Amino acid sequence: MNPGELRARLRALPKVELHRHLEGALRLDSLWEFHQSAQASLHASREALEAAVVIPAGEPPGFRTFLARFAALRFRYGTIADLERVGREAVADAASDGIVAYELRFAPLFWAWRARDMPPMDSLADLPLPPFEAVEAATEALMRGAFAEAARRGVLVSCTVALNRQVPAAANALQTKLLERPLGAKLTAVDVCGDEACPLEGVAEFLEAWRRAGRGVTLHAGEDPGGPGAANVREALERFGAVRIGHGVRAAEDPAVVRLLKDRGATLEICPTSNVQTGAAASFEAHPLKALHEAGVRVTVNSDDPTISAVDLTEEYARAHERCGVPLVALREMAIQAARASFFPEAERAELTKRIAAAWDAFLLEP
Ligand SMILES: [Zn+2]
Repeated sequence: MNPGELRARLRALPKVELHRHLEGALRLDSLWEFHQSAQASLHASREALEAAVVIPAGEPPGFRTFLARFAALRFRYGTIADLERVGREAVADAASDGIVAYELRFAPLFWAWRARDMPPMDSLADLPLPPFEAVEAATEALMRGAFAEAARRGVLVSCTVALNRQVPAAANALQTKLLERPLGAKLTAVDVCGDEACPLEGVAEFLEAWRRAGRGVTLHAGEDPGGPGAANVREALERFGAVRIGHGVRAAEDPAVVRLLKDRGATLEICPTSNVQTGAAASFEAHPLKALHEAGVRVTVNSDDPTISAVDLTEEYARAHERCGVPLVALREMAIQAARASFFPEAERAELTKRIAAAWDAFLLEP
């Protein structure tokens, strides 16, 4: 099968996206429009915005340079109501990528900040806190847009709130308070992102609150090539009861952690392109995706930040096969695992699993 044909067929397959940050999935045209209407001065032109946001092919890998791309996204996007458009476009783009179930992952705090005239954010550690009402209103607007588009396109959407290791505890408290509000019922999972070198002390009690409230728990761990690696994956599993791990690529360095992942039945949300760009994997060819799968760890393929990485989920599946060496029969298992491990309600999950399996079976039987 030639590369073009493979991509066309993979695009047509129904897919589940478990790990895609809303912040990293915005349309460049919309971003530029927001930038202009807010009269922001961060970027001199659309080309400059694109150069600051999108990682060019051949850029040397780096975890911190990858995270720094998010700084280029920190400007005012408009009013709270404009965030409805952000939610709508994210789901529309996912649908064009063949995604039929999409866990929308976002940090309400940053969205409230983007929709208000807040002071500039020099570092996450002294993040200016928006009022809780603004956090709730931003979340509500994003969800309104996302769910309306989801209904139009027949896409399943759920919401995952991203806590952050680098922000003050009060900021994570503000996001956790959403659980008490009516919209909190639709926030089905919690995630932790940010610099892995930062300890989890500002996050731990809030993570526990989400877990106690019955929400799915996933943590970014074992991603940063300069961070604690497999030890963070162990911490996520043993200390926080994570059932899924964001990336977890570096677990491959420690056979005991690989065994632990397998024994717990935890699922890794692997994002091949992002992993190569951050240096979590030395190359696509050296990526442990295939080896982890063969070791019996539950793995899935995801896109992380499509705009920053200039990929989509279809392309990630194609690269997993062509460059990471994952046979199509194994890719089928990963696609099905994404449905099984998703945070949708059990009945939807079962239906989704059947649908993905049937579509892949038909694909693999095609000449
Ligand atoms: Zn991520």
